[in-house]
Amino acid sequence: MQKIYPYSKLPNVATTIFATIGQLAHQHGAINLSQGYPDFGVAPELLRLVSKAMNEGHNQYAPMPGIFTLRETLSEKIERLYGHYYHPENEMTITAGATQALFTAISAFVKKGDEVIVPQPAYDCYEPAIELYGGKVVPLSLKGIDFAFDFDGLKKALTPKTRMLVINTPHNPSGSILSKEDMRKLEQLLKDTNVILLSDEVYEHIVFDGQKHESAAKYPELAKRSIICSSFGKTFHVTGWKMGYCVAPKELMREFQKVHQYNVFSVNHPIQRALDTYLKNTGRYEDLGAFYQQKRNYFLKAIAASRFTFAPCSGTYFQLLDYSAISDEPDIVFAERLITEFKLASIPVSVFYRNGSEARHLRFCFAKTQETLDRGAEIMMRI
Ligand code: PMP
Ligand code: GLN
Repeated sequence: MQKIYPYSKLPNVATTIFATIGQLAHQHGAINLSQGYPDFGVAPELLRLVSKAMNEGHNQYAPMPGIFTLRETLSEKIERLYGHYYHPENEMTITAGATQALFTAISAFVKKGDEVIVPQPAYDCYEPAIELYGGKVVPLSLKGIDFAFDFDGLKKALTPKTRMLVINTPHNPSGSILSKEDMRKLEQLLKDTNVILLSDEVYEHIVFDGQKHESAAKYPELAKRSIICSSFGKTFHVTGWKMGYCVAPKELMREFQKVHQYNVFSVNHPIQRALDTYLKNTGRYEDLGAFYQQKRNYFLKAIAASRFTFAPCSGTYFQLLDYSAISDEPDIVFAERLITEFKLASIPVSVFYRNGSEARHLRFCFAKTQETLDRGAEIMMRI
């Protein structure tokens, strides 16, 4: 019989770290602070609204860009928070998580030979998408212990072939955020270019210590070239629902939707109904920063006397810990050993770098109940 030899379009891509570490953690019964997801419940009212929407019969396809009323609600929210108006008619799309929004944006705009600048470390879904469409990833290292944006590096990396720049604030995995000054510098550097800014803002409501999220929407020179992606999963503790959205000026959104209509057409209808009603009331995300700040502080206090060292993160629900006082092993080896020997799972940060990293950093997710954090911290104090 004729054998099929699959031709790989992504020969260098393996199964994601989240799947492999998750499986190893499960196999060893480890406390799982690796993949980013909350291990606590969802607001009962939101669950009730989903069930209500289903019972009311919203069980067929939603309109291609998402239900209009949810787009209107989001448009108002974004204008209130960031002062930029996106027209619900043609500047927004509800997506299957931010992952689909990011993938669709890349597939709509990146073609063979285009360069896409991706700050490193980077969340893992951008680069495979860029490569699938023939784009060239141009890595740009974030600098120093606070993972600061490298504007000199960006200046050098920008060429006539640059099609897109990816930014992610608050940033996974480092927990750093871009400041007002950073955004102003970005405006200056991009102003005379044709570069599209793909702004991953899924942790927009998880910012700490009185700091503010600086959305690309707030900066006119950025907003006019940006596709901004966000995720209901992070904001409402429902990562498994895979619901997100993106906004962009209509010329960009038109191209985005040309792809969106054929890779998914539309996304979960009853959940859109529920999210719309839920979002219309206040108190839905305003306290999220304080909620996770308390968890970050609790976790860091519990491990303060351990041999791990850290600089508290500014946003997201991830904390990087430096283990160089404990071991000289590469982070992948050390992370595996923590699972098998100590029953504690985290993510080795080198996987977020295109060319690896020698740093001795692990990423821990603190979107967990106090009990999980206590159990994790108790192990960490013994390492
Ligand atoms: N971007 C970043 C930086 C993330 O951490 C995540 C979380 N998985 C995503 C995008 C994807 O979001 P979603 O789960 O809504 O697809
Ligand atoms: N965003 C989550 C994290 O960084 C993981 C999502 C996934 O498993 N793809 O942990």
